[in-house]
Amino acid sequence: MHILLMGPPGAGKGTQAANLVKEFTISHISTGDMFRAAIKAGTELGKQAKACIDAGNLVPDEITIGIVRERLSQDDCKKGFILDGFPRTVEQADALTEILSDLGLKLKSVLDVNVPSADLVERAVGRRICKSCGATYHIKFNPSKVEGVCDECGGELFQRPDDTEETMKNRLSVYDAQTKPLIDYYTKAGLYVEVDGRQEIGKVFADIVDILKD
Ligand code: ADP
Ligand code: AMP
Repeated sequence: MHILLMGPPGAGKGTQAANLVKEFTISHISTGDMFRAAIKAGTELGKQAKACIDAGNLVPDEITIGIVRERLSQDDCKKGFILDGFPRTVEQADALTEILSDLGLKLKSVLDVNVPSADLVERAVGRRICKSCGATYHIKFNPSKVEGVCDECGGELFQRPDDTEETMKNRLSVYDAQTKPLIDYYTKAGLYVEVDGRQEIGKVFADIVDILKD
């Protein structure tokens, strides 16, 4: 099963993807996670991506498309993947269409997790991530049992440097200008399905599973 999770920053894509990979035993491919791993490792890619991410801008298409092409060519992607945070521009969507055609793969659905902008800043600013295993929490909506400590592995929780109110404003306007046109793109392709992301995490998950099992 090859699916694409769309939605503005903070909508809940990563949270849903983490549950979906367990349900369907497929790979989670998050370009944001790939960039953050590269930054942590101090690679050339990380150096190129860091300034864009810190400012809430997109990493250039050429770089992003290159890493996705390489990742999707790996063997585990044949059985299925959830693409989270890619594509974010029409150029990326065109590239994805070409990559999938080269690999002989087809998207099943494009799920758009829809949350009003007013809620997104609070979701992002309250987000906490485990340094060790990457599990995602929210200080109010999905808190860990012990503050600052991951339930899954006991790792330390941290706040992403781009999860500030100011950076979120830019990330949301970048989303409106560059990513929203993909709604039309995937509607025309007959793949677009909207999911109500305002509901609690378990309900959003149940809705997505219903759509995918259809
Ligand atoms: P994205 O990957 O789309 O940027 P995340 O999955 O990281 O978003 O979620 C952003 C924040 O919102 C996290 O702190 C997460 O725990 C929280 N969150 C995710 N889904 C919901 C939900 N349905 N209701 C409330 N908070 C949520
Ligand atoms: P995310 O983890 O999806 O919130 O992404 C964090 C940041 O990584 C974004 O604000 C961008 O700077 C960068 N990024 C992630 N995915 C992409 C993409 N598909 N195209 C360009 N930049 C991206």
